[in-house]
Amino acid sequence: MSQAVKETTLSQPSNDLIPPASKAEKSSGAGGYGPGEAPRWEDYSKCVHCGLCLNSCPTYRALGQEMDSPRGRIYQMIQVERGRLPLGEAFVRHMDLCLDCRGCETACPSGVQYGRLIEAARGQIQKYYRRPAAATFLRKVFFRELLPHPRRLEILGRLLRFYQRSGLERAVLASGLLRMIPGNLEHAARLSPRMEKPFFFSRLGTVAPAVGPRRYRVAFVAGCIANLAFANLNEATLRVLARNGCEVAIPPGQGCCGALHVHAGWRDLAREMALKNIRAFNAGNLDAIITNAAGCGSVLKEYPELFEQVGQEHYEEARRFSARVQDVSEFLAAIDLNRDFARANLRVTYQDPCHLAHAQRIRSAPRRLIQALPGVEFVELPEAEICCGSAGIYNVVHRDIAQSLLEAKMQRIDETGADVILTANPGCLLQLRAGVAASNKPKRRVMHVVELLDEAYSRHPKIAPLL
Ligand code: SF4
Ligand code: SF4
Repeated sequence: MSQAVKETTLSQPSNDLIPPASKAEKSSGAGGYGPGEAPRWEDYSKCVHCGLCLNSCPTYRALGQEMDSPRGRIYQMIQVERGRLPLGEAFVRHMDLCLDCRGCETACPSGVQYGRLIEAARGQIQKYYRRPAAATFLRKVFFRELLPHPRRLEILGRLLRFYQRSGLERAVLASGLLRMIPGNLEHAARLSPRMEKPFFFSRLGTVAPAVGPRRYRVAFVAGCIANLAFANLNEATLRVLARNGCEVAIPPGQGCCGALHVHAGWRDLAREMALKNIRAFNAGNLDAIITNAAGCGSVLKEYPELFEQVGQEHYEEARRFSARVQDVSEFLAAIDLNRDFARANLRVTYQDPCHLAHAQRIRSAPRRLIQALPGVEFVELPEAEICCGSAGIYNVVHRDIAQSLLEAKMQRIDETGADVILTANPGCLLQLRAGVAASNKPKRRVMHVVELLDEAYSRHPKIAPLL
């Protein structure tokens, strides 16, 4: 992977030369976007084409092409709007290759909210571009028929758990059968998370009491796949919150937050899922709505954006909901933290999840929590803010770039000499675990920050274990 790529130049029109397409142009068909949400002039006109974001962009660093940089992608979005570039294969390829990591937003001095642009562009692609039949079918199954349906997820989880535990998985992988099927099926199978027992679905509709006097009343976002594959992480989060005086409600009726849908352009479906969650978390006086998944947290905080142009009647309720959402590290770092931690002699490092660092701008809270642990030596990870290659399902669909990002990440992690790699997002946990499994240190642990806190509480000699 090239780390410092020479900038390629494009003849870029200045923003003065790119006013928004006029009504006449749009009605004459000059604009390349279809009706509905599209990248907006208010957002892209802030880009002054300075290029200061280029070196923060993993795809630009990997491919060295202007068209795979934030500036180049914004340029292409404008060209489509002006009707100078078709909403076709080349445009879709460059938009698909973006990780939506939003590292460019943090780097941008002009305040370009790139996430809004790429997500709107992908909304257009989802509505108006016809992908190959197999890709369309798989996307429909995953985004529409599976993720929004907890019951179907649970059934799939049970089947997968049987497949993983019965020895069938080992036999299928060893047989090489999956390699004969076109697509990345074998790679996807190797990346697929382990199904945990019991599923966290059984917790929906319950309330976990505070340990000691109640200081806060919060609600917990259980996620979708996390109910199957990160049930232990969710339980650890409940225990850590309980030890900090939180009564934690886990509202029934909640479901997938829609983050993967927003990133992939399924905006109508994401709106439906957002409304379901907004209503599920509507009851009672809550101090916060807590999530332990950075990717979910960023979309939950940005629900109002989904209702800016469509379904404006829901904008206010989305805004009220989002104002209460906090990442678990953000919440814990802001309260008077229970410091009854057992000492642990560990060297740890921390990988910033992109949607915590760049989308939510939370970098110091998890570090402060780690540094509160006695005996833990925290070593800063060089380039911790660069994506590890997970990015939702990116590591499945763009295997080569994701793999090169992971390899660079693992090299950096090796330099820290850490025993434990910490992060704060389920997708990053899976990706880093895959990196560790393929490394020469396969016993190195990869944990969520709250799991290390939970471990430190549970090993404290004066603290009774919480089941
Ligand atoms: S840093 Fe911001 S203004 Fe400069 S090219 Fe990148 S997105 Fe545009
Ligand atoms: S979101 Fe990430 S991959 Fe996409 S343009 Fe920005 S920095 Fe590059």
